[in-house]
Amino acid sequence: MVTIRRLMKALSIKNLQKTYANGNQALGGINFSVDVGDFYALLGPNGAGKTTAIGIITSLVNKSRGEVEVFGHNIDNDLAAAKECIGLVPQEINLNLWEKVGSIVWTQAGYYGLKSRLAQERTEKYLRALRLWDRRNDIARSLSGGMKRRLMIARALVHEPRLLILDEPTAGVDIEIRRSMWDYLRQINEAGTTIILTTHYLEEAESLCRHVAIIDEGKIIEDARMSTVLRKLQREVFVLSLAQQFDTAPELEGFRTTLREDRELEVEMGPSHNLNDLFKELDAHNISVVSLRNKSNRLEELFMRLVESKHNGSQEAQDA
Ligand code: ADP
Repeated sequence: MVTIRRLMKALSIKNLQKTYANGNQALGGINFSVDVGDFYALLGPNGAGKTTAIGIITSLVNKSRGEVEVFGHNIDNDLAAAKECIGLVPQEINLNLWEKVGSIVWTQAGYYGLKSRLAQERTEKYLRALRLWDRRNDIARSLSGGMKRRLMIARALVHEPRLLILDEPTAGVDIEIRRSMWDYLRQINEAGTTIILTTHYLEEAESLCRHVAIIDEGKIIEDARMSTVLRKLQREVFVLSLAQQFDTAPELEGFRTTLREDRELEVEMGPSHNLNDLFKELDAHNISVVSLRNKSNRLEELFMRLVESKHNGSQEAQDA
């Protein structure tokens, strides 16, 4: 029994495939598992297949093939038990906007069979936790965007699921509210709830998650501890706008350079150098810089690197 408990995963996905009726293959056979108590990010660009995967786990989307187990309950033959374990915060705001805030959470408690008194207690507990208790008698429509998202979190938590899944929880939410949502998610994770979130913000995954799976075009291209993945990002790329024109990229010792346009130079800098070193090199070659910016976002860079290494068949993308 002890062994079974230790081996049990909060979520186990095997060879999960999804092809939509129109022939779109959204998932090409993915495998991953989430440990009990983990804070897990499913990261990927738009269209990668994240929402499809979440939809299948929460039985909103039918899978084409594969296996899904939630705390040991297989969704094919033990769906009710699997669903009991899950709280979902979907990407789209799917509240009844004419219903009162308190009633939305209380009604959800009813779906999960909570007795009236417990439903009342939990409604108050989670509306207070998400700073919405004062708004309990207002209709959802009157809430701001950030409040609506918090209301969806309260609703997802009212039956106290063991696994909370959030699909792009902070999309369109301003930075202050985003950070307070992060604090709250950290708290409930520390209190024992396993959390999976999808995001296309690396910063969000980086700040919250211990483990990350990166999904691209329906395939998992990375599945590792967050620290392992971040180590791959220790190179930065700067784009320099130059005063002079060049035909070929000037060589700068210690840096990889690529000429993008006749006055635009990309410089890749590793962890052993800093910007002072770069400017010394530029001075030594009499190259004047008009402006400098950090290239794109780090997530894009990470994707590019992972996709490149996948195509090159390199072992670099493997979990160290
Ligand atoms: P993500 O959540 O990572 O943005 P999705 O799971 O929403 O990705 O989409 C994965 C792929 O499946 C995309 O190519 C998308 O266009 C397609 N897709 C999603 N939902 C449907 C649907 N209902 N019918 C057909 N194709 C879909």
